[in-house]
Amino acid sequence: MKLNELTIKDASGGLRQKKFSVSELVSNFLQAIKEKNSELHAYLEVFDDALDEAKKADEMLGVVNHEERMKLPPLFGIPLAIKDNILIEGKKCTAGSKILENYIASYDATVIRKLKKQGAIFLGKTNLDEFAMGSSTENSAYVSTKNPYDLSRVPGGSSGGSASAVAGNLCIAALGSDTGGSIRQPASFCGIVGLKPTYGIVSRHGLIAMASSLDQIGPMAKSVEDAAILFDAIKGGDEFDSTAVKKESLEIGNWKLEIPERLKGVRIGIPKEYFGAGLDADVKKVIEAVIGKMESSGAIIKEISLPHSEYALPTYYIVVPSEISANLARFDGIRYGLSAATSYQLSATSLYEVYAKSRAYGFGAEVKRRIMLGTYTLSAGYYDAYYVKAQKVRRLIRQDFEHALNATDVILGPTAPTPAFCFGEKADNPLQMYLADIYTVAANLAGVPAISIPAGFVEREGKKLPVGLQLAGKWFEEGKLLGIAKAAEII
Ligand code: GLN
Repeated sequence: MKLNELTIKDASGGLRQKKFSVSELVSNFLQAIKEKNSELHAYLEVFDDALDEAKKADEMLGVVNHEERMKLPPLFGIPLAIKDNILIEGKKCTAGSKILENYIASYDATVIRKLKKQGAIFLGKTNLDEFAMGSSTENSAYVSTKNPYDLSRVPGGSSGGSASAVAGNLCIAALGSDTGGSIRQPASFCGIVGLKPTYGIVSRHGLIAMASSLDQIGPMAKSVEDAAILFDAIKGGDEFDSTAVKKESLEIGNWKLEIPERLKGVRIGIPKEYFGAGLDADVKKVIEAVIGKMESSGAIIKEISLPHSEYALPTYYIVVPSEISANLARFDGIRYGLSAATSYQLSATSLYEVYAKSRAYGFGAEVKRRIMLGTYTLSAGYYDAYYVKAQKVRRLIRQDFEHALNATDVILGPTAPTPAFCFGEKADNPLQMYLADIYTVAANLAGVPAISIPAGFVEREGKKLPVGLQLAGKWFEEGKLLGIAKAAEII
C-alpha cells in the first residue's frame, strides 16, 4: 500500500514504529497533490511550509525514546486538509468567495489550535461553495472540484474539496463544516465517512459563519475510526464560543467509542418519510440491502415516523437565509477583504458606493439570493409570518427526533436522494439543488449528531458511484453513534 492511501490509524502506527518518517509521509501527499490536484481541484491552496513542519516533527521524533513515542498524540505527524472557511493564522482564508480573495487570517480557529497541539500537519486549504452555500461546490468563486469516482460529476458540497481530497488520497483526513449537510452529502458522493457532531460539542470560533445556530465543524475521513480520532481531537468547550459546551463535562471528557457486539440488540429506526418518491430507486436498493444485513447481524429494525419531515427543508430555507443576512453584513468593504474604496476598477465615490460596489462585486449569485431572502424574512412586516413561524416548526422537528430517539438507538436513512450528479445538472435551478439536502438538514435543525458512511455503489454510465447511508443519534452521544457506525461499516 502507498503511504498516501493509509488511514490515520495505520499512518500513526507506522510513524511510531519508525517504518517511515513524517517527511516521507508528507512528501508522498505533496507528490500526489502535484499529480492530481490540477485535475480534481480539491485544494485552493497547498502550503509550501508543510514539508518544513514535517521536518520539525521528525526532529522531535528523533529525540524521543520508544516509550515516549508510543505516548504521542494520535494526530502527531498526520497530514490533514482544512476546508477554506476555517482560519489558520497567517494563511489565506477565502471561504470560496471573491470578497475574501486576499484575506489573511489573524488567528487560529479553536479546532486548528487543538490540532496543532497534537502535532498534526496541514497540507492546505480545500475548495467549497461560496460561504458554504451549496451542494456541489459549483458555487465556489474559484474553480469546480471534481469527484474522483467520475470526473464529469460533482463531489457534493459544500465541503466538496475536503471530500475529494480524502477520496482522491490527497490527504489522510480533512475538516469540513456542516450547516445542512455539507459534511455528510459530499461524504456520501465521494464514498468516505463524514460526521456532523452535536451542535455545541465542537467550537465554532474561527469558522467563517454561515448560519450560526446550525454550523458545526466535523471530520471527513476514510474510516469511522479515523473520524472518531479526529472528532476526539477537536471536541470540547471553548471560552470563545458561548454556544460550545460550557466545560468538559464528564460525559464528553470521558467520551469513548462504544462498539456494540455485531449490532446485536441495537434498535435502528427507519423513518418511513425518508423512503418516499424522491429517493432514487438504485440508492434505495443499496440502503435496503444494508438494513437487511444489519438485521441478520442481530439489529432490531423498527419503522418509525418523523412526522414533520416535509417541513424540514422549507424551515431550513427560512432560518438559514435569515442568519446569513445578519452574519454576512460584516463584509462591507471596510472591515474585511475586498474593498471598492481602494479598487481602481470599482472606483467608489461615497460610503454607500463602497458598501454597494464591494458587495455587488464580491459576492456570487447564491450568496446574494440568500441575503435578499433573509433580509425579507427578517423585515418588520414579515418576521412573525416567516422567521418566528420557522422557529416554531424547528421546535416540532426537534421533538420528532426526541420521540424517535427515545425508542431507538439510532435513526437510519439515505444521506442523499441520489448519487453524485453531473456538472451543470442543477446549477441553474436552486430549488433542485436544495433538494440534495432533503435528508440531512433536519439533523442540523434538531442539533443531533449524524454521520454518513459508505453503504455501497450504484452504476451510472458504466461508472461505479458511491452511496452513503446516514445514522443520527441522540445529543452528545457521539460515542454510541460512532460505535454503531463502526459496526455497520464492516458488515
Ligand atoms: N447545501 C446546504 C445549503 O446550501 C447545506 C450547506 C452546508 O451545510 N454548509 O445550505
